[in-house]
Amino acid sequence: MVQKMDEIRIENLKVYAYHGVYAEENERGQDFYVNAVLYTDTRRAGREDALTLSTDYGEVCHFINDFFKIHTFQLIETLAEKTAEQVLLHFPLVKEMDLEIRKPHAPIGLPFESVSVKIHRGWHKAYVAFGSNMGDKRAYIEGAIRKIKKNERIRNLRVSSIIQTAPYGEVQDQDDFLNGAAEFETLYTPEELLDFLHQLEQEAERVREIHWGPRTLDLDIIFYDDLVLDTQELTIPHADMHNREFVLKPLCELAKHVRHPLLGMTVEELYRAL
Ligand code: ADP
Ligand code: MG
Repeated sequence: MVQKMDEIRIENLKVYAYHGVYAEENERGQDFYVNAVLYTDTRRAGREDALTLSTDYGEVCHFINDFFKIHTFQLIETLAEKTAEQVLLHFPLVKEMDLEIRKPHAPIGLPFESVSVKIHRGWHKAYVAFGSNMGDKRAYIEGAIRKIKKNERIRNLRVSSIIQTAPYGEVQDQDDFLNGAAEFETLYTPEELLDFLHQLEQEAERVREIHWGPRTLDLDIIFYDDLVLDTQELTIPHADMHNREFVLKPLCELAKHVRHPLLGMTVEELYRAL
């Protein structure tokens, strides 16, 4: 059974702000109402009766109030997106949140009670395998890890040891690889994470543009929570990870008990089965 998270709820926080498509909305302003559910673990705070172990809902209310007033967006979609991201970045114990923004005085010209946008956002656990077999391999890998660490939409990074492996697949006539794996939490969707990893690959390869050949850096998404996804540009879990010792061995250091959502085996069991 998936463990249910605890909730801290904020209901109908009223904020006077200036978001809207029309100039009049931006000038005169109107009331916005916020409903938020913060998914967290209140167990320790509850047992020890200590606010420092929890998320202060008062602080969150003021944070949302300030954020609403400082910025002016056209869309409540944008307001919701940015507010959720800022709350998740500023209150580290909040793992996920629901955020609903209501705008009962939106200029519609018809009688209505309210219009609203509601989103769910949160931190996701991702595993990424990396490899390099060209140029200063270690530097490419370390450069990418540094950029991953610096990205504010990524936190709690752990990196495996880096191992040396012989080339895999059809093209055997190339240099040995350095391989490893990383675990982190991220606010990115799988597609956004892939874009970010592609950007890191490009930044590593740009230096050696003139050469053709093996890649200076390969970054593959192995797991993303227990998501199963198969689209044109993205297969999660990675389609060939269970056949690759250079993925499973470093991954064992970080995630040996993590279960493959399709194969039903843990990373350690997959590694043993090779
Ligand atoms: P490979 O990793 O197999 O050596 P590439 O790194 O060139 O090949 O990746 C080619 C494409 O594979 C990427 O552009 C991406 O769209 C797709 N792809 C599918 N699933 C994944 C995944 N889980 N992680 C990374 N890329 C993936
Ligand atoms: Mg790849």
